[in-house]
Amino acid sequence: MKKILILVLTIVSPSAFAQDILLHCGKLIDAEKGKVLSEKTIIISGDKIKEVRDGYVDPETNDKLIDLKDKTVLPGLIDMHVHLESETNPKRYMARYTFNEADIAFESTVYAKRTLMAGFTTVRDLGGTGVNIALRNAVNNGYVDGPRIFTAGKSIATTGGHADPTNGSKNSLMGDPGPREGVINSPEEARKAVRQRYKNGADVIKITATGGVLSVAKSGKNPQFFIDEVKAITETAKDYGMLVAAHAHGDEGMQRAVKGGVKTIEHGTFMSDETMALMKAYDAYLVPTITAGKFVAEKAEVAGFYPDIVAPKAREVGPQIQGTFAKAYKKGVPIVFGTDAGVFPHGENGKEFGYMVEAGMPEMESIQAATVVAARLLGEEKRIGQLEPGFYADIIAVDQDPTKYIKTLEKVVFVMKGGKVYKN
Ligand SMILES: [Zn+2]
Repeated sequence: MKKILILVLTIVSPSAFAQDILLHCGKLIDAEKGKVLSEKTIIISGDKIKEVRDGYVDPETNDKLIDLKDKTVLPGLIDMHVHLESETNPKRYMARYTFNEADIAFESTVYAKRTLMAGFTTVRDLGGTGVNIALRNAVNNGYVDGPRIFTAGKSIATTGGHADPTNGSKNSLMGDPGPREGVINSPEEARKAVRQRYKNGADVIKITATGGVLSVAKSGKNPQFFIDEVKAITETAKDYGMLVAAHAHGDEGMQRAVKGGVKTIEHGTFMSDETMALMKAYDAYLVPTITAGKFVAEKAEVAGFYPDIVAPKAREVGPQIQGTFAKAYKKGVPIVFGTDAGVFPHGENGKEFGYMVEAGMPEMESIQAATVVAARLLGEEKRIGQLEPGFYADIIAVDQDPTKYIKTLEKVVFVMKGGKVYKN
């Protein structure tokens, strides 16, 4: 008898206890239209938004109500440039000799969670050892709390370039890394490197078109790819439906990247007027990473924080980034939100909004850059970046209206991803 009763209960329960979650939202940001709405109810069923209704709708018997009447609710934020595998500190340069993949993996789970708790429900990971692919899978499988991840796996560089993994090693450890490790020196090798990344499970391709700040190498801005190599990469990536992102500080390497078909320019530090015009003509997006620029400029003055070869580059590049963003925005260069978190502490991604606004971008546009615009570039514009029926219930809330006080986005008080509440 008891057995039968339990059986009946299990059969009946899923529908009888199926519950929606209702969010009563004092203010709600429509990122697509660029409007702040008031007094709305979002109804969430499973991992998706079922409905958005006017006023405060009463919950039905089994529904769960979350009161956000004194908050501003907006779509989960998207950061198009993070590195979830690590975080810079003075001891970091030893890690590549001492860390196994498992060490990197465990550490990355901490950063993934911190990023999610800061209101970033989706990120694009632009390069690590490749553990970031396993991290994405672990998040998707529910083993690890973190944002939705679109990852480049390991970045592609040329020999001695910004993402050559053996830069700064002694000769006997340098070896001769090739396409598999993301080091190429011809169009043929470029194709192989892209196909290898596809095979490994990458979602996007990242190249280091110029020198960079944190690598153990002299120049932070020299061009590092020929245009035929860039083209081989973008054309091969296209076959697999992947866009290409290019790290670039120097102008020459940036121009080659844009002309070669790259979709996003990361940092863009020394971008000339000519390149800004090219970006517009090619519909290429600037990913500002102002927060990283500010951080490296500050830490370059702390003795011993960076190796001697890195500090001068940090001093030269860091302070320039916000000014270039201001100019690019004014000239109408397309902008998408990205911070380079990992260069600075994960979870502080929200600072970027304040820096963008300080440089002349209106608050609402900075929010759109981190929602609808980013979603489009990820090819996810029907699933994330808006609070509309059928979209994933990736929803955050802040205490104040960010269109009036942007820094409120540095302190996100409510986080839901895929209908699950992570922070309230
Ligand atoms: Zn980066």
